[in-house]
Amino acid sequence: RAKSEGGSTFRFFEAGMDEEMRFRRHLEVDLRAALAKEELELFYQPLVHVGSGHVSGFEALIRWRHPERGLVSPAVFIPLAEEIGLIKPIGAWVLRRACADAALWPEGVKVAVNLSPVQFRDGSLPGIVAAALQSSGLPAERLELEITESLMLMDDQAVLKILHDLRRLGTRIAMDDFGTGYSSLSYLRRFPFDKIKIDQSFIRGLDEQGDAAAIVRAVISLGQSLGMTVNAEGVETEEQFSTLRAQGCGEVQGYFFSPPRPGGEVQAMMRNLGAKSPATAQPPC
Ligand code: C2E
Ligand code: MG
Ligand code: MG
Ligand code: MG
Repeated sequence: RAKSEGGSTFRFFEAGMDEEMRFRRHLEVDLRAALAKEELELFYQPLVHVGSGHVSGFEALIRWRHPERGLVSPAVFIPLAEEIGLIKPIGAWVLRRACADAALWPEGVKVAVNLSPVQFRDGSLPGIVAAALQSSGLPAERLELEITESLMLMDDQAVLKILHDLRRLGTRIAMDDFGTGYSSLSYLRRFPFDKIKIDQSFIRGLDEQGDAAAIVRAVISLGQSLGMTVNAEGVETEEQFSTLRAQGCGEVQGYFFSPPRPGGEVQAMMRNLGAKSPATAQPPC
């Protein structure tokens, strides 16, 4: 009895795996064609300067408009693209598109682009970034490149050299999702980041009056002493925003201000956000 039940459970599990594999294989085939079919698109989410309440820039977040599945999350297809060798062409496209878009924004408004560690595996990245800047005419200091802790884990001289080459081009470098990786503070000494972005899990934790609040406070003061801008990601409520402002956080981003929206809505987001700046906010009635 028990044995045959185990057997059927196993077959059921196998069938589930099969379906998962089929799904991935279809997605893989479609993803290979997505760039050429122009199904990829960049959404933009505002980065809000806490001191002035102004939009200091936008983070580019890729979307895949699949003809049958609708919008596919980058959390699903970016890891797939990394696995099947597509992240380099997709990453180069993101850089070109983001720089071309940002070149049309008001002067001083930055664009932040996420980079995969796979884009650091050979030395081609600085050339790709330089070409995107040149063809768009975007000044390098308006491009911010976001990397994650997994890149620093490689602790690789070649990676550090690429980061320095990027910095020499004039771009800014931000550490994304700070606090979620196998963080070791020593990499903050190996490379002087311009910005650290506190992961949204800590911001969510602010509501709970536990350790997250202490960690956020510590990271803000760490960033301040190291001369880095500190950004808080995933700010969803007024309360989280006021806590972060009181703690001296320099930049915020999250649904409270705006979700990521299509590039055509960038001007509207800048207009609308003026209303949320501390100076002009209406008291609740
Ligand atoms: P990330 O770079 O940490 O981006 C922040 C994610 O949080 C985005 O998810 C954004 O839509 C979401 N978010 C923003 N505000 C809030 C909020 O208030 N609450 C909540 N719950 N979420 C919020 P998204 O767009 O799904 O992107 C997921 C991840 O995919 C990104 O995380 C990034 O690691 C990766 N990604 C996105 N675009 C690219 C790209 O062009 N290249 C690469 N290599 N990775 C990308
Ligand atoms: Mg990011
Ligand atoms: Mg992040
Ligand atoms: Mg993330």
